[in-house]
Amino acid sequence: SIHKDLEEKIARFHQREDAILYASCFDANAGIFEALLTPEDAVLSDELNHASIIDGIRLCKANKYRYKHMDMQDLEAKLQDAQKHRLRLVATDGAFSMDGDIAPLREICQLAEKYNALVFIDECHATGFLGPNGRGTDELLGVMDKVTIINSTLGKALGGAAGGYTTGPKPLIDLLRQRSRPYLFSNSLPPAVVGCFTHPLVLPIRFRSKMTAAGFTISGKDHPICPVMLGDARLAAVMAEDMLNRGIYVIGFSYPVVPKGKARIRVQISAVHSDEDIDRCVEAFTEVGRKHGALP
Ligand code: PLP
Repeated sequence: SIHKDLEEKIARFHQREDAILYASCFDANAGIFEALLTPEDAVLSDELNHASIIDGIRLCKANKYRYKHMDMQDLEAKLQDAQKHRLRLVATDGAFSMDGDIAPLREICQLAEKYNALVFIDECHATGFLGPNGRGTDELLGVMDKVTIINSTLGKALGGAAGGYTTGPKPLIDLLRQRSRPYLFSNSLPPAVVGCFTHPLVLPIRFRSKMTAAGFTISGKDHPICPVMLGDARLAAVMAEDMLNRGIYVIGFSYPVVPKGKARIRVQISAVHSDEDIDRCVEAFTEVGRKHGALP
């Protein structure tokens, strides 16, 4: 049940229908292409894609096209050629691991729409880093509704240990549970590792929901950066100082760092915090807020 719970949280984080866990993203990449594509289909892959995508594609029997790194003219030419196949899948790293450049996903999605292709992104170097809420390259570039499949790792921004996943439409995830060989023929993530990851994804939700219930307004959604919106610059400064006096280090921001009238205290939740830390922080905010008139 903890694995299912984590899959649900991952899907919610990426705003997708479902997710499936693997022991690593290397496994997720090794499993997806062979499970999804047949000899009647085509896969179009950026030449600098990660080794695990390359290996995953090697394992499938689809027709293979390799387009020049982030070269949209070349991708378009290959998509035109691939029209003769039943299904087309464009596969790219969201953020490229060796060069640090970011795939032109808007253009890729436009081409995919024009040539009736699906888009797959490997988000190992983007999940937790890119986009206003850390959801990744698709969030950064405003194409969350255009990218069909995301593979990513739990071993980078989300915690630093191990684990990978695919998230996307439910029928695809159902198919992977039946057909993906690294999922079927290998152990899943150890429960202790699953426990580690569930925690950082739920801590910000705990803080946000408790603070909202206490009467505060928290900007954003789900993300571990939780700005407590206060409006008044002096109020933000004195409250942050009082929080520090209670042993809680949070930072007050006011104009010109943020717009006039939008002063706030920025709270940053991290994986080293415990549930008790979160609860103590909310209690301290409530006390300090009442003292300075931010709460009734
Ligand atoms: N894809 C990319 C782009 C990566 O950089 C990595 C890891 O380095 C992987 C996949 C494999 O991820 P994992 O370590 O979870 O197997």
